[in-house]
Amino acid sequence: MEECVFCKIVNGKLPADKVYEDDQVVAFWDANPVTPVHILIVPRKHIPTLNDIPEDDHILAHIGHVARKIAQDHGVADAGYRFFINVNREGGQVVYHLHAHVAAGRGFGQYLIVFAVGVAMVWRKLVRLVTGKR
Ligand code: AMP
Ligand code: ZN
Repeated sequence: MEECVFCKIVNGKLPADKVYEDDQVVAFWDANPVTPVHILIVPRKHIPTLNDIPEDDHILAHIGHVARKIAQDHGVADAGYRFFINVNREGGQVVYHLHAHVAAGRGFGQYLIVFAVGVAMVWRKLVRLVTGKR
């Protein structure tokens, strides 16, 4: 059977910027980071989605502990970070090998919102100046 992209990383057939690994998981930098710290935690075992984790499998608890350790190692545990899993199409999942995101720091999208609000405020002031309305 054809291996998925994260199986290939786990098996060393594809390169990745690894930050942590143990007998259950491998963690590496996201190839397209959305925040200054953006790391993925992937189980060695191929599990397609969160929906497919057997009830007696404690991989999620382990991934949580690894996320905390990664956040500490990258100095973001106290300031805060996001820890999330996208599930299936409408949950935004793109790679169908279970993975958790650890994302910290302001992303480009957040700067864009601040910029857009700033532009809107200046625009409103300009319109008031030109039309003389208060
Ligand atoms: P998701 O939307 O939760 O499925 O996220 C998949 C993530 O995997 C995206 O953020 C991608 O940037 C990332 N990704 C895909 N291929 C690779 C790869 N070869 N190495 C590192 N990250 C990857
Ligand atoms: Zn896989």
